[in-house]
Amino acid sequence: MSEQQRLNRRKREERWAGLPMSIHIAVRGAIVMFALLGILAVFFYIESMPDGASAWGEADLEEPIRLFTSEQIRALREDPQACFAALDGSNMSYAEVEPQSRTPECRWQAGVQISTSNLDYADPEPPVASCALAAALYVWEREIVAPAAARHLDAEVAEILHYGTYNCRRENSSQAGRWSQHAGANAIDISGFRLTDGRVIGVHRWDNGGEDAAFLVEVRDRSCEIFTGVLGPDYNAAHADHFHLDMGPWEICS
Ligand SMILES: [Zn+2]
Repeated sequence: MSEQQRLNRRKREERWAGLPMSIHIAVRGAIVMFALLGILAVFFYIESMPDGASAWGEADLEEPIRLFTSEQIRALREDPQACFAALDGSNMSYAEVEPQSRTPECRWQAGVQISTSNLDYADPEPPVASCALAAALYVWEREIVAPAAARHLDAEVAEILHYGTYNCRRENSSQAGRWSQHAGANAIDISGFRLTDGRVIGVHRWDNGGEDAAFLVEVRDRSCEIFTGVLGPDYNAAHADHFHLDMGPWEICS
């Protein structure tokens, strides 16, 4: 700050300090009132929107990740019609699949079988996923996995290795407690990445300190920009060899 700027600032402060207390209170009151009016206006705007519409607009899965991308994809969970429309507006090819359910807890609302996406999936292929999970994966492959591989490994990803999506079980395969997001095909376990040059980067190499570890860390960190649930080797020993990515209701990034 220059001497002149400092002088101007002091003059401003002195003028403000010289005003009567009633003006101070009036000015502060007006600021608080305008802030409250602003909050109310946003609230009524959102409330007045038709059901299914979202304050952040429709999801366009071909767009780069922006401020509201995550909210747009999350909104698809409650709106199967909008979700299928988002997939139809992308270059993903998929087939709708009927729920195959043994219990009410183990079914998906809007399920898809992905045939082609931005990146290929290794066996068991193609994965069945909830529509919102498929939408999230589509953006994740192009915007997060591919650039991280180019940056850290100077390579392209040929195939995503995984342990699957749908699995009718409770969290941590326990006998009681919350049902896993896998029970609704709303989660995928990613075990690694096969590159076009033949290298395989397994998530179990998380701690080896090399470029492949830097790649894995970037993928884990940035996955939280899209998925609501991200669990990896830092979370617990059960995730030492895979990233669990889900679109469930609970936010976790570890
Ligand atoms: Zn999992």
